[in-house]
Amino acid sequence: MSQSEFGIIQRYFVDSGLGFTKPEVVLAIGDDAALLDLSPDQLLAISMDTLVAGVHFPVTAEPAAIAHRALAVNLSDLAAMAAKPLCFMLSLTLPDANAAWLDAFSKGLLELAEKFECPLVGGDTVKGNLSITIQVHGTVQLNRVLRRDGAGVGDRIYVSGNLGDGAIALVSLGLDSHLGAKFVLDEANYSEACRQYFMKAYYEPEPRIELARACASTITSCIDISDGLYGDLNHILTASGAGARLNPGSFPYSDAARCCMSADNRVQAALYGGDDYELCFTASPQHCSALEAAAMKLGAKITCIGEIVQGSGIVCVDAAGTELAISAAAYDHFGND
Ligand code: ADP
Ligand code: MG
Repeated sequence: MSQSEFGIIQRYFVDSGLGFTKPEVVLAIGDDAALLDLSPDQLLAISMDTLVAGVHFPVTAEPAAIAHRALAVNLSDLAAMAAKPLCFMLSLTLPDANAAWLDAFSKGLLELAEKFECPLVGGDTVKGNLSITIQVHGTVQLNRVLRRDGAGVGDRIYVSGNLGDGAIALVSLGLDSHLGAKFVLDEANYSEACRQYFMKAYYEPEPRIELARACASTITSCIDISDGLYGDLNHILTASGAGARLNPGSFPYSDAARCCMSADNRVQAALYGGDDYELCFTASPQHCSALEAAAMKLGAKITCIGEIVQGSGIVCVDAAGTELAISAAAYDHFGND
């Protein structure tokens, strides 16, 4: 690596405090590889996500906000497995070494890294179009890990937080939405408060680590919703060999979503949007009261939105059980729409 790359790494990723110590990290930034000391009864959970400028965030986005989102979406994957954050790695492709940008970026990372006790232990720094890849490592006890393949017929389906904010935020930020020409904000009700709410929802999704870990013993399957509930719940169904009945009338929405999106668009955003980074999980009926009590104790909102049934795929029904027509498709990075 060149001297200037070394300078960047030292200044923004070591001196910034991002490489804070913890007992499991024996050796972090500075050698050819990081060394981790893991206890034998824990599984190591590893996940990676890339954010590309112009695709996953506007080129002009605030560096602290980009940093926050990049780490948060990775931590959300650990939440989906009920893993506890251990540390992360950062592969950064930068067009230039802009000191103000790097300073704000590393501060954005530090805030979340400290909150989740997840230090930076290594990475790579190269020149090119702005792109951020983060790999998170987490640990989870073998009998507490959550996977996609455990849903059973009769299980209730829950989601954390609200649905649809990610897709609405995309429109609010002026980024392209794949949800079509009718997916527009109700301008008359779109206030500055709404704009700010969606900006925060997009850049600062809350990784549901605490919720997943507190409720893991009552959960049978789990996924984080990154590509829309429809597509992501389908991953649970395929892995578990079952189907689902969903009641869109029970979907949880934020006040901002209710304020500036039509009811039809809210359902579209929830099912086919993406970027929500909430958890979708299942629990057998006899454990639901314990699950709801554990969530309430944490002050975490969870909502039952349907149940697992025999068969395959998702059927949407209204409160009376009448089947509703559903269209569109979950976000696919290489899709044709
Ligand atoms: P190598 O030449 O062995 O591939 P590098 O020159 O890429 O190593 O990196 C030197 C050290 O700095 C390594 O410990 C690496 O993990 C760390 N590093 C490089 N880029 C980053 C980054 N963006 N964030 C954190 N650590 C980094
Ligand atoms: Mg090396």
